[in-house]
Amino acid sequence: MAILTVDQLETAGKRILVRVDFNVPIDDGRIADDTRIRAALPTLRHLVGTGAHLVIVSHLGRPKGRPNPDLSLAPVAERLAALLGQPVAFSPEVIGTETRRVVDALGPGGVALLENLRFHPGEEKNDPQFARQLAALADGYVSDAFGTVHRAHASTVGVAALFRRAACGFLIAKELEFLGMALERPKSPYVAILGGAKVGDKIPVIRSLLARADSLLIGGAMAYTFLKARGHEVGTSLVDEPHLLLARELMDTAAERGKRLLLPVDHVVGEDLKSQAPPEPCAGADIPPGRMGLDIGPETVAQYKAVIAQARMIVWNGPMGVFELPAYQTGTFSVARAVAASEALSIVGGGDSVAAVNQAGVADRIDHISTGGGASLEFLQGKILPGIAALTQV
Ligand code: AMP
Repeated sequence: MAILTVDQLETAGKRILVRVDFNVPIDDGRIADDTRIRAALPTLRHLVGTGAHLVIVSHLGRPKGRPNPDLSLAPVAERLAALLGQPVAFSPEVIGTETRRVVDALGPGGVALLENLRFHPGEEKNDPQFARQLAALADGYVSDAFGTVHRAHASTVGVAALFRRAACGFLIAKELEFLGMALERPKSPYVAILGGAKVGDKIPVIRSLLARADSLLIGGAMAYTFLKARGHEVGTSLVDEPHLLLARELMDTAAERGKRLLLPVDHVVGEDLKSQAPPEPCAGADIPPGRMGLDIGPETVAQYKAVIAQARMIVWNGPMGVFELPAYQTGTFSVARAVAASEALSIVGGGDSVAAVNQAGVADRIDHISTGGGASLEFLQGKILPGIAALTQV
């Protein structure tokens, strides 16, 4: 079983349907962050260079199968044209006579972007009829939308089976290379750093990491569920009550396997998420009544940094605190700098941790920044991702 990469595909003069992830944040019609568009450029430039005719498709937001002018890809077509330095024809529909006309007008190296795939009800249903209509636009298929490969949609799964020529782009190839190392070739000491708010969502990945990693460093709101399960006072901190028992079990499993599962030993606390009051240090693992844990404290940072410094492989998902507020970003930024400074192979995934390494100014010292939050977590659980399986040649 192997997956071809776009440079192994014969694309000269061929029409290639390219599924990318242009799901960028748009404020008032303006693109707030074009990282995802830039991430697809190596694959798109390669295809342009081979003289392929590029029919690019993507989703944007959640229009739920209906056209929605606020979620049009039109501004993305403009930005893409500027980044590629060549015209990008935009079709204001997904499927139909205008799309046909735009695609037929493409010459070698020409680029077209179709309107938001999710304006069509068939996309998220993986409707075979819609997949056939998409496939009819091209001779070959390239997927570079890592952020959506965990979803079995028409443009990620249904369509792939209809092509004799299918390959992944350079972005997916890099994700598979690095995440594959974390899953299949762990290097010890292997340190997993987990934070963020949602414990339930991350339980499967914690389980999977417990099998591979040597140490788990827990921060963010997630830490309070674990601390409470261990019998600590957590004040008004966010606790995922339904998952307390599972948190307890995970700590037992870690102990049985001789793994280190570290929890914060001190905190930075506040009144609540919205309070303008200055942050307060809180020594010790217990949090007083009426106080909410909003960042890991300096002693915890020191302990986590010492573990990170010894690592040979690091996987990080989820911030250590409410890093969106300057008062509570020290923990997250300190961890970001420690990961960047370490000699370990470092992989950071999940939208918030990626934002954190960018804001901390250390993104260029991380070996791999995953473009797919949900997809990278599912991959690290060892799950088969449908959009990757669909590209696999048997
Ligand atoms: P997730 O999507 O699960 O990775 O969670 C990310 C979010 O968790 C971010 O918006 C953080 O502000 C939030 N978060 C991190 N630490 C805390 C905390 N101690 N209390 C409340 N929210 C937190």
